[in-house]
Amino acid sequence: MSDSLSPEATGLLTVNLAALVANWQSLAKRAGSAQCAAVVKADAYGIGLEQAAQALAKAGCDTFFVATFDEALRLRTILPTVTIYLLNGLNPGTAEVVCGIDVRPVLGSMAEFDEWEAHADETGEEAPAALHIDTGMNRHGFSLAEAESIAPRLVSDEITFTPTLVMSHLACADDPEHALNRQQIDAFSAIIKKFPGIPASLCNSAGLLAFPDAHFDLVRPGISLYGGRALNTGENPMQPVVKLQARVVTLREAKAGTTVGYGARLKLMRDSRLAIISAGYADGIFRAAGSSDNKKGAEAIVAGVRCNIAGRISMDLAAIDVTDVPVDKVKRGDLVTLLGDGISADDLAGHARTIGYEVLTSLGRRWKRIYTE
Ligand SMILES: *Cc1c(COP(=O)(O)O)cnc(C)c1O
Repeated sequence: MSDSLSPEATGLLTVNLAALVANWQSLAKRAGSAQCAAVVKADAYGIGLEQAAQALAKAGCDTFFVATFDEALRLRTILPTVTIYLLNGLNPGTAEVVCGIDVRPVLGSMAEFDEWEAHADETGEEAPAALHIDTGMNRHGFSLAEAESIAPRLVSDEITFTPTLVMSHLACADDPEHALNRQQIDAFSAIIKKFPGIPASLCNSAGLLAFPDAHFDLVRPGISLYGGRALNTGENPMQPVVKLQARVVTLREAKAGTTVGYGARLKLMRDSRLAIISAGYADGIFRAAGSSDNKKGAEAIVAGVRCNIAGRISMDLAAIDVTDVPVDKVKRGDLVTLLGDGISADDLAGHARTIGYEVLTSLGRRWKRIYTE
């Protein structure tokens, strides 16, 4: 990324939309005969809802999942004809506005079901919606008993709204060996028999990658689209989508035996050179990813050399130990890479005891965002 483009920007977040599209295409291929939707909740996992959805729609994706009404509205504004599902369901009293922008709520409780049904009854609208059945996660979703009681009413056409999807969600798909996966797949396979003719969906990214026999009619990948790791073990087959670069504010020499940063938690073992960069925990470089005498911190790439974060990460600044970078190779104003060029969101997450999902969705609002096709 040419630095001269934005000399005033303190940090650059470059989103590779071509990689996003390539990831969706490769997932759609793996999905086989199942339809491949895209989960674009939380601002498309931090990369930008509008940009991500536009690129995916252009590539042929026509079904999207968001979490909130605001996200659904933003998506409907730019994509008038795609199918949009609202994962977090229906806030009380919102059936009319949700239906009004042609968004399908994912109904997961009897209260939501009753409100949606009442709205369809009153207006005579088709009111398409998904039904979420809980098969072992105890989060959103009808209990199996509730699903059993709803099914005959749907089949007998007593219900006036239009169910377009029956879905559930895997709790442990990132760990394919976990016994709960098979239990959930079996429970889901059994319950959908009570909803004949309605398309079924179970898999997130990890389920899509790990359980080809459980793709049903539609798969719902999120993290894999954005290049994140879905399965805990094995190679991550997806292309990285995000590159993060922060600017060097200053370089300083620091003597062996002195300490770096708040709390004086890292004592330097040698005379060192530090690059102070303009990114911190307010930008999503988690404080927990810092280093101390007992803990190695996250890494950054400076002039092609992998270096470690030195000491605690501040709100707006962090120190990088660049002692091993040739002196003439790094100067004030240069960009160092925090994500990209071999450092994944999952690598950064590992140093902060979290997951790549949280890194991407925490990137913050101060990065200058650049989208490449
Ligand atoms: C977030 C979410 C997904 C996508 O999950 P990934 O692990 O990011 O692929 C799919 N389905 C539901 C219900 C979700 O909440």
